[in-house]
Amino acid sequence: MTSPTENPTKYCTKCENDLPQSEFYPNPKAPGRFLSWCKKCRKKDVVRQRQDPAFRARVAAQQKARREADPEAARRRARVLYLRNQEKNRARSSAYYWANRDRILAGRRQTAAAKRAERDNP
Ligand SMILES: [Zn+2]
Repeated sequence: MTSPTENPTKYCTKCENDLPQSEFYPNPKAPGRFLSWCKKCRKKDVVRQRQDPAFRARVAAQQKARREADPEAARRRARVLYLRNQEKNRARSSAYYWANRDRILAGRRQTAAAKRAERDNP
């Protein structure tokens, strides 16, 4: 038999359900305690927040300030990300190319023709 302390539940103030404590993230500002929204509600809120233009503008401004405060550190961070994701990015580029090959090649032909026309009839 399990006692309530062995399997504690917690009330989510967003979806208003009683859920097992394992369904809540720990509160980083209050060690030993948990956030008042369950994981599912938190995840939905993060998705909603990331689509909010005001939030995106605030994050972009913070990132810009951080870059400008220490440009050398920003370059190091960018370099680490570039190296870490190199293989993944190459695979993504290749997949994009092969999925859109006809359109890409048609665009290149069009650009080359425009340059030829410009060169031959200045
Ligand atoms: Zn919830």
